[in-house]
Amino acid sequence: MKLAIASFVVCSAAAFVPTGGDRQFSTTNPSTTELYGRKPFISGNWKLNPQTKEEALTLASGIASSINENSPDVDVALFVPYVFIETAISAVGGKLAVGAEGVCPHNSGAFTGGISTSMVKSIGVNWVLAGHSERREIFGETNDYINAQCLKIIDDGMSVMLCIGESLDEFELDLAGSVCEVQLKKGLMGIRKEELDRVAIAYEPIWAIGTGKVATPEIAQSVHAKCRAILADMYDQEAADEVRILYGGSVTPESVDDLMNQPDIDGALVGGASLDKDKFGRIINFKTVKTAVHV
Ligand code: PEP
Repeated sequence: MKLAIASFVVCSAAAFVPTGGDRQFSTTNPSTTELYGRKPFISGNWKLNPQTKEEALTLASGIASSINENSPDVDVALFVPYVFIETAISAVGGKLAVGAEGVCPHNSGAFTGGISTSMVKSIGVNWVLAGHSERREIFGETNDYINAQCLKIIDDGMSVMLCIGESLDEFELDLAGSVCEVQLKKGLMGIRKEELDRVAIAYEPIWAIGTGKVATPEIAQSVHAKCRAILADMYDQEAADEVRILYGGSVTPESVDDLMNQPDIDGALVGGASLDKDKFGRIINFKTVKTAVHV
């Protein structure tokens, strides 16, 4: 097989798995996402949107239609309000996963307004968000409560996306790494190494959520690398290398490619832009700049 080296060839993530043999690669380091077999993960968080079932149906099917044979080999999930979960599942035709924006850590009983893992599991949900900064800040969810949610999700055989991230004050005081360390260690307490394949982390600096301010790819990369080092300390390097760490905070079609080119950024958690099928479609179809191509 002949291999040509070309600079700045745009290719899908799936097309760039180093396999050795007679293949040559440029001196540019491949992303560690690929090196460690982490499949990129693009996810949307609809929050308190949209307002009707019809709009949810149209948006979910529009997003699903942006996934085609030319799309990168990515996992895609939409975290949607509970009432739209079944509608969204029926609209996407299995092209992407539909997840819940959160769960109550209790099974049943006197928890008015609560939704349990069994309830969402029974309608086809596998992925659940935990620890989103809006849940922490507006709804007062603590690290202990978030840890209980994570354990419940994992114990019930589902997968959790744990969101972590610092405030603007903390960022300015150079505390991003320390805040993430506390939130990671407390959020994942009790989760075993062999369960980590059902855990994804979303690093979402609070100052970048819904503000239009995206952390530069370099800032995001440095915190992602720090988070991976913390995971290595908590578990081991092999485990840390396998966990997907997504970036979230005003990700747009304009910013996604540069973010996804960072070695430790394995995906994106997208709020505002996931409410627009064209914008989110472009984010799903992100382009990474690579240096080797088969001819
Ligand atoms: C989010 O809600 O997780 C988020 C990242 O929102 P936005 O993309 O709008 O900043």
